[in-house]
This record gives sequence, C-alpha cells and structure tokens, in this order.
Amino acid sequence: MVNQNHNSKQSATTKGAGVIHMLSERTINRIAAGEVVERPASAVKELVENSIDAGAVHIDVVLRDGGKDLIQVSDDGQGMSADELGLAVERHATSKLTDEDLVNIAHLGFRGEALASIASVSKLSVASRARGAEDAWVIRVDAGTKHEPTPAGLTSGTRIEVRDLFFATPARLKFMKTSRTEYGQAGDVIKRLAMAHPSVAFTLSDGDRTTFRAPPIADMNEDPRLVRLGAILGKEFRENAVAIDAEREGLRLTGYAGLPTYSRGNAQQQYLFVNGRPVKDRLIIGAVRGAYQDYLARDRHPVLALFLDVPASFVDVNVHPAKSEVRFRDAGLVRGLIVSALRHALAAAGHRASTTVAGAALGAMRPHAGVPAMPFNRGHENSSLPSGFRAQFDNFQAPLSRDGYGDGTANFQPSGMQEGQMSLDPRGDMTVPSARTVDENLAQPIYDDFPLGTARGQLHATYIVAQNADGIVIVDQHAAHERLVYEKMKIAIAESGVPRQGLLLPEVVELEEGPAARLLARTDELSELGLVIEPFGEGAIVVREVPAMLGKVDVKALVRDMADELAEYSEALSLKEKMEDVCGTMACHGSVRAGRRLTVEEMNALLREMEATPHSGQCNHGRPTYVELKLADVEKLFGRR
Ligand code: ADP
Ligand code: MG
Repeated sequence: MVNQNHNSKQSATTKGAGVIHMLSERTINRIAAGEVVERPASAVKELVENSIDAGAVHIDVVLRDGGKDLIQVSDDGQGMSADELGLAVERHATSKLTDEDLVNIAHLGFRGEALASIASVSKLSVASRARGAEDAWVIRVDAGTKHEPTPAGLTSGTRIEVRDLFFATPARLKFMKTSRTEYGQAGDVIKRLAMAHPSVAFTLSDGDRTTFRAPPIADMNEDPRLVRLGAILGKEFRENAVAIDAEREGLRLTGYAGLPTYSRGNAQQQYLFVNGRPVKDRLIIGAVRGAYQDYLARDRHPVLALFLDVPASFVDVNVHPAKSEVRFRDAGLVRGLIVSALRHALAAAGHRASTTVAGAALGAMRPHAGVPAMPFNRGHENSSLPSGFRAQFDNFQAPLSRDGYGDGTANFQPSGMQEGQMSLDPRGDMTVPSARTVDENLAQPIYDDFPLGTARGQLHATYIVAQNADGIVIVDQHAAHERLVYEKMKIAIAESGVPRQGLLLPEVVELEEGPAARLLARTDELSELGLVIEPFGEGAIVVREVPAMLGKVDVKALVRDMADELAEYSEALSLKEKMEDVCGTMACHGSVRAGRRLTVEEMNALLREMEATPHSGQCNHGRPTYVELKLADVEKLFGRR
C-alpha cells in the first residue's frame, strides 16, 4: 500500500513539464479513492466490513438509486467517540493495524483508507455512539472537506451515510451503470459477506422495500453456516449439498458443495472465501473446475460455498486494492487440498442424485403444473415459474450428448444380438442389505431394501423401472452404464490396466488410411484401455481384444467411433486426459446401450453396481442416471394425499 501511494506520486512527478511539487492531500485521496471505491458496491463492501470488524450483530443497508443517490449502513457495533470519528475519516487512520506488520492481517479492514477515500468523492456523514458512552456524535465530510463533529441522536452503534457518490469526480460518475445493475452488484457483495458471517443478521433495502434478508440464526442444533447458505442460495441447495471439511498442513477447507446433478449453466453461484474474505481467485476457481471435471459437462457449473482458512502468514491479501485476489505461498498445496476434499465428499455422496431431479419429473407429470416441458429458457431465470421449478429445470437441461443417447428405438438391435452380459462386481467393503425373498411370480430375488430397489421391468428398451421400499426408481440404462464403465476403467487403469477379453475370431475393420494410422499411433494407449489392435494392410486394422467390462460389443462400430474420436484430439493429448469421452464412446457400444432389451437379472445387476459405484448418480455429462419418485409424491399426483 505504501508502494501504491509512492507510485501515484511518482507518475505525477515524471509527467508534465512543471516544477516538482507534492500533490495535495485532497488529490492523493481522490487517486486512492479511484482504487478503493470503484462503484457503490465497493463502498458498500468497505462499510459493511467495517461494521463486521466493529462486532456488529445486525447490519442494515439502504441503497437509493442503486447507491448513487444514497448508501446508508447502520450497525450495532462498538461505535466511536467524537475524537475517534475525527480520526476515522483521515487517510491511513485505523484501529486495526498496530505494529506496521502487514504480514498478520486478521481484520477485514487494514489499510485505514476506505472512509477517507469515500469521503473524498462524496458527501459523507458518520454518526456513532461509542459503547457505554452517554452521547452520540456525527461528523460530516464534503468531497474531502472535514467538518467538526456535532452531537447526534443515535442510541447505539454507527450509521454511515454516503450521498452523491462520485459527484466530486465526474469522470468516474460516467462509468456508473444503471441503478438496477449497481444495486445488484451491491446485493451480491452483501450476500457474500452474509455467507461468511452467519452469526450476523443482514438486510438490504432500496428505500421502499427490503429485498434481501439474512435473519439471525435461531436454531442452534443445525450448522449455522448451512442454515445461512440455505437462506441465500435457497432451500434446494441445503438438500443437495455435501459438507466439506478437510485439513492439510495447517490449511483447512470447509463449506458445502452442490451435487453435480444440481449444477448451473454459469459459474456465478460459486462463492469462495479465504480467511472469511470473499475472493474471486483464479487458482481456486480452477481447482473447483478440476474437481468436478469428471462429473460435469464443460458448460455446467457446480453451486458451492467454500471457506479456506490458512495461517495469515501463508497468504498475501495485500496484492489487490479491493482485496478480491490473494496470493498463496504454496499454490500447489491449496489446489491439492481443494481438489481432493471435493472429490472425496462427492465420492461419499455415492449414487445420490439431487432431489430436484425427482421434483422436476413430478412437476412435469402433474397436470396443469404450468411448466413448459421443452424447450426451456436456460440461462434466464424465468420469473413466471415458481422458484423451485426454475432451478429444477435448469438442472434438467444438461446438454444432450452426441452419442444419440435416449433414442432407444433407433438403436434397436435385432433379436439374437440382445443378450449382453453384465458383470456383477460389488465392492467388498460396502454394507448392503441382502435380497429378502423370492417373488413367486417373477421367481426373482426382491431387493426392495436396496436404495435402487428391485427391477420390475424395462420400458422402451431404454429405461429400467424398479421398486424400492418407499418409491419408484427409473433408471436411464445407457447413461448409468456409461458411468459405470467410466468409473471401472478409472479404477482399473490406476491399478493394473483395463481387463481385456479376447475375441474368438479377431475382427478385421476396414478404415480410411488416416483414421487407421491415427488408431495405430495409439496402439499402446488403447491396449491400456483394453482395446488391442494391430495393423492389417493398407487402411485396415485387426482387433484382437476388447475391454471385458463392455460385455458384447459391436467391434466395427466401436473402432470407427474411436477413430472419429481421435480425429478431434491433438496428437500431444494423452487419451487419459480424455478418459471421460473415450470411455463414453466405448460404453456406447457396450451391452447396455439404449435400445438393448435386458433380462431381469441384468437389470438388477446394473442397479446393484450403481449402488456400489461412486458418482453413479450422474452420467459423464452431469445428467442424472436415475430418478426416484417417492410413493408419497406419486400419491399426491393422484390426489390421494
Ligand atoms: P480500516 O477499516 O482499514 O481500519 P477504514 O477507513 O475503513 O479503515 O476505517 C477507519 C477506522 O474507522 C477503523 O479502523 C475503525 O476504527 C473506524 N470505523 C470505521 N467504521 C466503523 C464502524 N462501523 N464502527 C466502529 N468503528 C468504525
Ligand atoms: Mg475498513
């Protein structure tokens, strides 16, 4: 900060031909103000942070005309005496930094320049009553001109009013956006601070109406942070988030992360904090993307709020005047912690898919629900819909894959080719209920106590319908299988390579020169993935082995698709980096593709495998692999409840 001050002087002295002179205090403040206060939202941030630093329990913000006309922040914190008021509006006056030690910064504020900066470009008034004091005082500063404190009528805390922000700097005034936009930005700032401080109650009003309210936490039996996140991100987030809590070498990551099926079309609902400070840090955003990469299509984004707490000496918050970017002493450690914590939590969530999926399905089935089925207006919040449906359909609109997913009849195979094999591969360490009885009619075991229940039938050769203890489960067999193959391949590759199955009759596949060469150039990589090929004259290859987990495959189609797939990648890219797509392509030719009729045993085997496999609640593109309808909801559909 000293630096930046220094720079501004320097540039003033090197420019122009005049005599070197010191800039006036007023000019220096205005230059600084340009960096600290960019717009109403940044002033709101500084003022609310001051209230939090002052130990406030209630903070109320009023913004008139998006804050351009008036920003008012009232708190019930410790307040200031008349003398302190005089100092508070001076530049580099702070009660928070005692020993010039910029390393251990514990408070939100530390530069002691926010109030002075705001005061230099607006009409500021600060009214305050120091805790325990008999009287309250108010000090006014107009565009940097300070007046003497005068008595005020205030029962407790501090009330700051900023009028006509930037009236003293018309150039800056021109850059302000519409009141609506400015109001929205300020609201976002308040939301973020409210997430980081669940014990503080917040309101935001436009002068007529309260538009945001984060109430004090009442029920102490619940995690206050989750309650607060629910108040801000919605009840659905509460239901569809997993708790994160991980520690590594003195760094701690906590918070809540949304399930992949509860994803969004943009990354705006990602809230990140470092030592309680909201940040938009690229390193963290990248780590989050990395952690979800396997579970979400590239244009889907998780909803989450993560709080990283690190020793003050591990992080430099002093790199950016608005303090939204930080610098870590060991970026790799931070990235590793975030990626592994998220992956673990998501893996522990297992086959859980978001509750909104079932809600959306029911919403679509319910007569007169008023929900348009398709196409849905993704990206825009459609305000004519109840908020629940909006979010649900947003989730439901995951991008369609390129593999013809769901077009069951088109892929229908002639009979005789239908008996695919499912491998039963339950992980040994899972405690699972055992099949209860044998159903007389079906002569099949009953798995109703299992989460995904007993397979009861298959519809359109694409969907498995199952019954569990309290509802109906519908599984998209193709999406589920694709996911299982991917997860199994990942594990197999990490261990000893994908198990292969030799073909009784090696299959010759005729291709063009180019595609054949592309495949052959990857011979080693493909064999690790379970596909063993050899050259067979010009433009042809012979396939000797295929991944065993695919069951019966159409070898020619698989090889042609793989060749197409490879055409899209640069040669430098390893197939493992494209695992998701490669496995998707392979799974697509496996035995359980859409359009394959499955036996009841195969269906049950698939359900059991899903239960035993992490991340099986969504396919590789973030679409759900199954929907569960609770009996209670189905009963509501029929007016039984
Ligand atoms: P900083 O927050 O970096 O110290 P500011 O210019 O934001 O600098 O505030 C200067 C000082 O004014 C603070 O250090 C604090 O002592 C006092 N102050 C500001 N706002 C409040 C408030 N709402 N309640 C009590 N004291 C405050
Ligand atoms: Mg401050």
